[in-house]
Amino acid sequence: MPQGTLFIVSAPSGAGKTSLVRELIERLDGIQVSVSHTTRPRREGEVDGVNYHFVERAEFERMIDEGDFFEHARVFDNYYGTSRRAVEELLAAGQDVILEIDWQGARQVREQLPDAVSIFILPPSREELERRLSGRGTDEHAVIASRMREAVSEMSHYDEYDYVVINDDFTTAEQELQSLVIARRLTTERTRERHAPLLASLLA
Ligand code: GDP
Ligand code: ADP
Ligand code: 5GP
Repeated sequence: MPQGTLFIVSAPSGAGKTSLVRELIERLDGIQVSVSHTTRPRREGEVDGVNYHFVERAEFERMIDEGDFFEHARVFDNYYGTSRRAVEELLAAGQDVILEIDWQGARQVREQLPDAVSIFILPPSREELERRLSGRGTDEHAVIASRMREAVSEMSHYDEYDYVVINDDFTTAEQELQSLVIARRLTTERTRERHAPLLASLLA
């Protein structure tokens, strides 16, 4: 069974990565999002085990000590991390996997898996980013203000990524994201793995 590809998607909070990724996995087969662990409080409408695995700080620290995380980072005073076992199992089953993680986590992943494809999502303007953060209606004023301040620092890392998608028109951005996943699946190396019997019969 050929291994799946790991995709890293990062963006400042509010740029639309969660919405874009949700749409992508509805449209494409064979790709799943990794559900992160976090110590952040659950937002209204978020479901434990679906949006995140919500855990206490002590539990998160125990998981760090036991080496359970593929990567983890502190973002906005909360901890976020990707479970090693969940990701490895999906990749081994031939699924492509998307990590929605910050730039610190992206660095840790690239070190361990240089083959991962990384994509940075940018908003079309600062004003629009702020509108989306407030418009989402899930965060307090102070939280929005601190996420706006953090946004510039997150965006300053865009050039560490393989690809950049600007999320102005949603449909266009979604198609661009989808095309990156499809292009990766069509590389010669992946084709050789995915279509071994076909190639064998064509070249016999
Ligand atoms: P959102 O950006 O508005 O969706 O807000 P969240 O609170 O869900 O996520 C905050 C930040 O934490 C985002 O920038 C994510 O990239 C990052 N993040 C979420 N999960 C993880 C994780 O498992 N590992 C790391 N390193 N970062 C994460
Ligand atoms: P993130 O996961 O990056 O924090 P979300 O996916 O939660 O961002 O999107 C933030 C808000 O912006 C949501 O209310 C979402 O519906 C909205 N949004 C996302 N993309 C667009 C877009 N292209 N145009 C207008 N609104 C958008
Ligand atoms: P939110 O709390 O708004 O869902 O996410 C805040 C930030 O945490 C986002 O920018 C998101 O990319 C980041 N994040 C979410 N999950 C992970 C993860 O598993 N690892 C890392 N490193 N960052 C994550």
